[in-house]
Amino acid sequence: MNQTTQGSRLEIQGVNKFFGDFCALENIDLTIEPGELVCFLGPSGCGKTTLLRIIAGLEQQSAGQLSQGDVDISLKPPRDRDFGIVFQSYALFPNMTVSDNIAYGLRSIGMAKARIRSRVDELLTVIGLEDHARKYPAQLSGGQQQRVALARALAPSPGLLLLDEPLSALDAQVRHHLRSEIRNLQKQLGVTTIMVTHDQEEALAMADRVVVMNNGVIEQVGTPLEIYQQPASAFVASFIGAMNFIDSAAVNGQRVRVGSRELELVRPMPESQDCVRLAIRPEDVHLLPAGDGDWEGQVESMDYLGAFIRTHIRLADLERLLVVDVDPRSARQLNLANGASVCLQLPSDALHCFAA
Ligand code: ATP
Repeated sequence: MNQTTQGSRLEIQGVNKFFGDFCALENIDLTIEPGELVCFLGPSGCGKTTLLRIIAGLEQQSAGQLSQGDVDISLKPPRDRDFGIVFQSYALFPNMTVSDNIAYGLRSIGMAKARIRSRVDELLTVIGLEDHARKYPAQLSGGQQQRVALARALAPSPGLLLLDEPLSALDAQVRHHLRSEIRNLQKQLGVTTIMVTHDQEEALAMADRVVVMNNGVIEQVGTPLEIYQQPASAFVASFIGAMNFIDSAAVNGQRVRVGSRELELVRPMPESQDCVRLAIRPEDVHLLPAGDGDWEGQVESMDYLGAFIRTHIRLADLERLLVVDVDPRSARQLNLANGASVCLQLPSDALHCFAA
């Protein structure tokens, strides 16, 4: 597409939202830079859709300000804001053709007919549906309908694109395909984009930055790598990817006691805590032959998951199970089997540390 959108900068300051006595959003501060793709990620009910609706003006915040570029949009109705939106349910007009659906927003801003036609043709090419221009939504697959919804949202070249779970109604293969299509198109256009999702894999794969939400607050904002490798809270650590948690007692600022052993920490410990929760990813635990490592254990179960084997190991010292991901070659070398004795090592630099 030859037209590049000037993506907006969005600033959210001190936003709260109450539904009656219920606080759905608490003190939300967030800045989204021009051209960024940011995902709001969190469990059901955490407030991500409410925040998106507030950005669109479909819901009024109880307190706080929003600005888009230099414009204070806090009190503007949706029609006076500069955004395109795509919903999970496509929400296309059933009685309009694909072309007319895409043209809808352009007609309502009074664009000349010839320009509308060329813009619609351009977008049809971008979404690869040139041959479907005269069809009606019911004659398209789910993935095709969502492409049309995307084209309709992008037609007026908005500064902000809002995507509310746009892929969750589609089957896995179409979802994966559309993921990269949306990402490529968004990059190419430079449109600032916010996508709501509860699918962590989708957020990690697509976002420049992920906003992890829980119970109406932002737990962490960071790149996918930061969110995965340096989770800021036990919630983020447990919500993104798999994680083992182990309770421990603080010995000093750098050492903790786990069972009968002491462990040295590399990452900072939460201040003034007697008890800390250690956390380690299954792929970070080292598995060694029996007698070769710090922690003795026994294999309780092995699930072959293709690229790795998810193993549950009972630690003798702690009387608890640890999840360990082992690559199939190492598993063969170790003769790993149910009931086998093994040793584990918990590398200090892979241990995360949270308040208990
Ligand atoms: P989901 O992934 O299930 O859509 P979400 O993170 O998008 O969840 P929201 O829809 O933003 O969550 O809702 C946040 C909280 O606010 C929920 O507890 C919800 O029940 C409540 N809520 C949302 N809209 C209203 C409303 N109009 N009236 C009362 N409570 C509401």
